[in-house]
Amino acid sequence: MKVNLLNYTLAKLEEFFLEIGEKKFRARQVFRWLHIYGAESFAEMTDIAKTLRAKLEEVATIEAPALVSEQISADGTRKWALEVSGGNKIEAVYIPEDGRGTLCVSSQVGCALECQFCSTARQGFNRNLSSGEIVGQLWWANKRLGKDPKGEKLITNVVMMGMGEPLVNYDNVIDAMKIMLDDNAYNLSKRKLTLSTSGVVPKIDTLADDCPVALAISLHASNDEVRDEIIPLNKKYPIAQLLAACQRYLDKSPKNYITFEYVMLKDVNDHIEHARELTKLMRGIECKFNLIPFNPFPNSGFESSSWEQILKFQKILQNAGYIATVRKTRGDDIDAACGQLVGRVQDKTKRQEKWKNYIPLHEV
Ligand code: SF4
Repeated sequence: MKVNLLNYTLAKLEEFFLEIGEKKFRARQVFRWLHIYGAESFAEMTDIAKTLRAKLEEVATIEAPALVSEQISADGTRKWALEVSGGNKIEAVYIPEDGRGTLCVSSQVGCALECQFCSTARQGFNRNLSSGEIVGQLWWANKRLGKDPKGEKLITNVVMMGMGEPLVNYDNVIDAMKIMLDDNAYNLSKRKLTLSTSGVVPKIDTLADDCPVALAISLHASNDEVRDEIIPLNKKYPIAQLLAACQRYLDKSPKNYITFEYVMLKDVNDHIEHARELTKLMRGIECKFNLIPFNPFPNSGFESSSWEQILKFQKILQNAGYIATVRKTRGDDIDAACGQLVGRVQDKTKRQEKWKNYIPLHEV
């Protein structure tokens, strides 16, 4: 069976080249073709000997997910639907803002963790994405966006915050992130690559050694009672264990703080007492808060906190000396906001509405 070269880190590609009797430095050349130039075929690799290209044709493929559609929001946000093997769809979202461009990447098709406020959870778990399918989202986004007038790539930041829990698909996510960081590929800075987890504690520790990148925690509650209700994983790894892992992570983190995400759910976790509890909980941990207005979806059973309540909550955190931002909703007109990625909205009427902005690729 042919191997998909998009799955390989540079070290693994070099190993593969040695196995097929080729020099290691050729692997680096091919790796650059794949990721810097976005080559879709070996024929494009014009500085590689024809004999090697023919050999690669026999034993390997370049197999990115298939691009199904592209939607462009009035605010510049772009959303791509990609089909991965088995016919499953995933999405990647690009958000341009304040001189930087952030790509939100998925790590699984669906998710098994059953966070109550998350629409991905409602579709259940389908499968892990391969490292090539994870990197393939960045590969496509770079191709579709092109470069700015200075010849620079538009994507400066990547966040592993799309569908799925990245630390459950650990090996593939680590390889994908290594490719994203490699200066022979996407050359992202470790500070600009963020992994967001709902709190798989043992893997937070190994991440610190295997591929330390910026860390974000989907916290969403200020005590175990509320967190147990909305994030079942908390019963296995309660808040105290999670925060202890965060402290340990900070020793090796490329950033000197951890971001805590907090989705604002009316009458669930948004009381003033919750904010006060949070300020006490975080004492001694270098962190920032990102408050996220909830994006309702059909039958979610939750409502977003009022804007007034979100600002009150924010003020309490700020008065206690924390940086607390409120996440702006982006790409509303193309359902690209947090919690609205493909498959998340089950409601058929809404789905029809959703796809009215659908642009088949041949028209882009
Ligand atoms: S919030 Fe993240 S970890 Fe929780 S169910 Fe949704 S995708 Fe999975």
